[in-house]
Amino acid sequence: MFTGFVREIDSVGRIVIPKQLRKELGMLEEGCKVELFSDGKQIILKKSECDCIFCKAETDLVEFEGKHICKACMDKIKAAEIAE
Ligand SMILES: [Zn+2]
Repeated sequence: MFTGFVREIDSVGRIVIPKQLRKELGMLEEGCKVELFSDGKQIILKKSECDCIFCKAETDLVEFEGKHICKACMDKIKAAEIAE
């Protein structure tokens, strides 16, 4: 039984990932990234890290050098720098 989704590829190669799937994977924030792989027959979409590297929060993220940090952790880092 096929339980997946069927989506049409548009003229420039884009597809929409169903909201239900994105919600299940915690990928509702704009800017979440996916990694794409192919084995010649299938395209595999893998959730890329889009949560805070410190506390795993998925909102209020800032990207820095390919990593995500949430605003709360960013504020803690700033406070620690000032304290030194
Ligand atoms: Zn955080």
